[in-house]
Amino acid sequence: MKKDDCIFCKIANGEIPSASPYENEEFKVILDVAPANRGHALILPKEHFDNVFEIEPETAGRIFAFATKLAKAIKEETGCDGMNLLQNNGEVAGQTVNHFHLHLVPRFKGDAVTMTWKQGEADAEDNVKLAENIAKRL
Ligand code: 5GP
Ligand code: ZN
Repeated sequence: MKKDDCIFCKIANGEIPSASPYENEEFKVILDVAPANRGHALILPKEHFDNVFEIEPETAGRIFAFATKLAKAIKEETGCDGMNLLQNNGEVAGQTVNHFHLHLVPRFKGDAVTMTWKQGEADAEDNVKLAENIAKRL
């Protein structure tokens, strides 16, 4: 299903042109219009899913599997030193386009990109309980 007012539905399905190194019947790779670094790519499913809470696991699996191949191609082409794969879900998590997408962000030594957080302190007892409770929901 496509969503009428969704820009990534339009891009993924070719209604809006984009710089795309790869597509198949299920997803399309585009280069980010406002890249964190040169080679910053996004993988978009052609079907509309808002986020990780909605996407079919099989589709997500194939997207992540392809990302391993794409990461190597981007690394070879850009000469990057490393890469972040990230995927934002919900406004609070930094998602600005509500159509599932996986970011591949090439990283270069000394670049200005930040993806860090202040490390917290785990409550060991709570972690055990939490792990049990999450396990029951799987
Ligand atoms: P989010 O913050 O939702 O995880 O990431 C959205 C990403 O999509 C951003 O990195 C933004 O630069 C990119 N983006 C937004 N609109 C367009 C567009 O029209 N074309 C392309 N190629 N990238 C876009
Ligand atoms: Zn969409």
